[in-house]
Amino acid sequence: MSKPDHHHDGRAGTRSRELFAAASKVIPGGVNSPVRAFKSVGGDPPFVRRANGCRIWTEDGAELIDYVGTWGPAILGHAHPEVVEAVQRAARDGLSFGAPTAAEVEIAELLCEMVPSLRGGMVRLCNSGTEATMSALRVARGFTGRDKIIKMDGAYHGHADVLLVAPGSGAATLGIPGSAGVPELVVVDTLVAAWNDIGAVQALIEQQGEAIAAIIIEPVVGNMGCVPPRPGYLQALRELTERAGIVLIFDEVMTGFRLARGGAQELYGITPDLTTLGKIIGGGMPVGAYGGRRDIMERVAPVGNVYQAGTLSGNPVAVAAGLATLRILERERPWPELDRRAQRLCDGLAERASKHALPWTGTRVGSMFTGFFQHGEVWNYEDAKRSDTRLFGAYFREMLAAGIYLAPSQFEAGFLSIAHDDAAIASTLDAADRAMAAVAAAR
Ligand SMILES: *Cc1c(COP(=O)(O)O)cnc(C)c1O
Repeated sequence: MSKPDHHHDGRAGTRSRELFAAASKVIPGGVNSPVRAFKSVGGDPPFVRRANGCRIWTEDGAELIDYVGTWGPAILGHAHPEVVEAVQRAARDGLSFGAPTAAEVEIAELLCEMVPSLRGGMVRLCNSGTEATMSALRVARGFTGRDKIIKMDGAYHGHADVLLVAPGSGAATLGIPGSAGVPELVVVDTLVAAWNDIGAVQALIEQQGEAIAAIIIEPVVGNMGCVPPRPGYLQALRELTERAGIVLIFDEVMTGFRLARGGAQELYGITPDLTTLGKIIGGGMPVGAYGGRRDIMERVAPVGNVYQAGTLSGNPVAVAAGLATLRILERERPWPELDRRAQRLCDGLAERASKHALPWTGTRVGSMFTGFFQHGEVWNYEDAKRSDTRLFGAYFREMLAAGIYLAPSQFEAGFLSIAHDDAAIASTLDAADRAMAAVAAAR
């Protein structure tokens, strides 16, 4: 190879462009999940060769500081040695049995200890966040004998048919209202309310509360960019659902183990009936889980009559990665430190945006954050959509050229890991200063 060992321009070079062209012939859009295709920011995506700590290396030889964190799971940084070793050890003993294992009991017990709504309750493992939310809704419907559900405009809960209504980020970025291929009949029972508008939920419950099985929310929304709950909102939802016999589901696929040991429900002190988990729970491997109140979870087969299954559910290699990750989090309790570092990063970004007279509204909860290119406050999806996505695209491309790998959409959250040290944050802020100067100059 004639290329230098590494450089920091992360834009797709010859090798990535060749791979993307080849990929596009055999994979729809060249990617296995839509947002990876860079449609909303322009340019071809760099292909990733490997990752370690807070850095990724592209097929073009660029070394980048990563704020995607594989879309949330990489809270320990990439390729944490203890996690990698646990995976290798598990793999040597067989990749899958489709039979019960001791590790499944261990992770279930740990989850029921860490997550408040699982205490004294039960949990079922599956393979993805999508499976977790789909299954939690099925159980809620089976338990209540009701059909309707409420979700929030712009919130994303995976790609199950019933939840592909007003689904935010990926689909929002593509300008697809929901999705083709989802029959109207499948989503007639999916009601949508604006995030942070308790009046809207109250009205729906007054009109049809007797028919509503569940309300599913991202307790801190990550999929329209990071949009926290307004003070008192989660409490009000808890009270309304309790009174109406509606199952409150916190989709903590993104926030679980990220915002606190027990997720957003611990941070805000509100306990839902059911919780869905994913991302960090698999430490980079495909794992999802749903659990909560014992009386509800006892409706799941083979105890109850709500069917849900999976050939690879509780997979020993995936569970080994998840267990190792959760144990490290238990030991290191990194949340206050993550919060401190993320605050420094976000304060620094806001300062530089102001210096270069760019519109910027920063949102952040712990190590989840977004910089919206606008001046207004962002409390729901309508607010988020007022952002200047053209400016975001320019900023994204400048940052990539400067060695910083951000999520390729204005409507995604950024993530910090424990591997993002002070030096990485300082480099990021230097890059942002140059990137914002360039964006401002080209306005
Ligand atoms: C990522 C995500 C999902 C979907 O998880 P997959 O593993 O991608 O299926 C569901 N809910 C939330 C809140 C998520 O962030």
